[in-house]
Amino acid sequence: MLTGKLYDIQGFSVQDGPGIRTTVFLKGCPLRCPWCHSPESQEFPTELNWMKIRCLGLDACGACLNVCPKNAVSAGPESTDAKGDPIRYPEVDKTVCDDCGACAKACKATALYMCGTDTTVDEVMHRLLRDKPFFEDSGGGMTISGGECLCQPDFTFEVLRRCKEEDIHTAVDTTGFVRWEVIQRVLPYTDLFLYDLKCMDSALHRQVIGVPNELILENCVKIAENGGRLQIRIPTIPMFNDSREHFDRYGEFLRPLKDAIDVVQLLPYHKLGVSKHERLMKKEKIFVAEPPSDALMEARRDQLLGYGLPVQIH
Ligand code: SF4
Ligand code: SF4
Repeated sequence: MLTGKLYDIQGFSVQDGPGIRTTVFLKGCPLRCPWCHSPESQEFPTELNWMKIRCLGLDACGACLNVCPKNAVSAGPESTDAKGDPIRYPEVDKTVCDDCGACAKACKATALYMCGTDTTVDEVMHRLLRDKPFFEDSGGGMTISGGECLCQPDFTFEVLRRCKEEDIHTAVDTTGFVRWEVIQRVLPYTDLFLYDLKCMDSALHRQVIGVPNELILENCVKIAENGGRLQIRIPTIPMFNDSREHFDRYGEFLRPLKDAIDVVQLLPYHKLGVSKHERLMKKEKIFVAEPPSDALMEARRDQLLGYGLPVQIH
């Protein structure tokens, strides 16, 4: 049976396309955006996470100690809990952990938990059909997102195809960093592409995100040329892509595609990814900056409006 690796399904979403939507989040992404607000989506396999706020501490609980076949769980240093009381938390050595899940199974408080579940298309459809009345009342539908949902092409295709059978509006939230043939296959079943454009400079894109941007830009043009609808999303990241010069490059690129664009959304950088990154217990530091000011966001919006594009600050 066809399954996808999901890390979440969220109902009542109003961020991922028109109306009230149910968003299906797939795990795994070929990009490595340092500001990623869903770092748990980046790796393809199921992963161990730890949520500090749920942990009872080793003195009160300690059920995760001594269950790890790799001896990856040890006692961390003395710390303080949310009330400022002393507590000792477990520490997981992620260089040794192989995500077997034994410690998560032992953790009754679900502080340790596994992120990533193999889910069938039927299970997803069952949930979507339950939510369908909300879609009909609000002009909403289903958004399939990630990670990069098109890196699980058969599963994503089948969810989209089944949604169209059920007359459910569909949106694909994509980085665009996939072969054109993959997009071409889902195009007839996709009412809207939520299409991320993170950076117009390919060398910078590669340096910061790990891959170049030519394929992403080419696919964006091809979607427009092949009758697809686009909602362009520009994460506006301080010191990366927020300059006037950079936004002129966005404007020049998008102006010829404007008949295919429903809206260009500017997404101001935020720090929501920081706490999720901590849950993954990785040593690498996450990018942290102050969010762009309202004045800067408004200036960039006005700049793109000058190119005749429909623009919103999200
Ligand atoms: S998930 Fe990792 S830390 Fe937990 S028991 Fe398995 S190997 Fe050990
Ligand atoms: S089993 Fe869970 S709640 Fe108990 S100490 Fe370990 S992580 Fe914390």
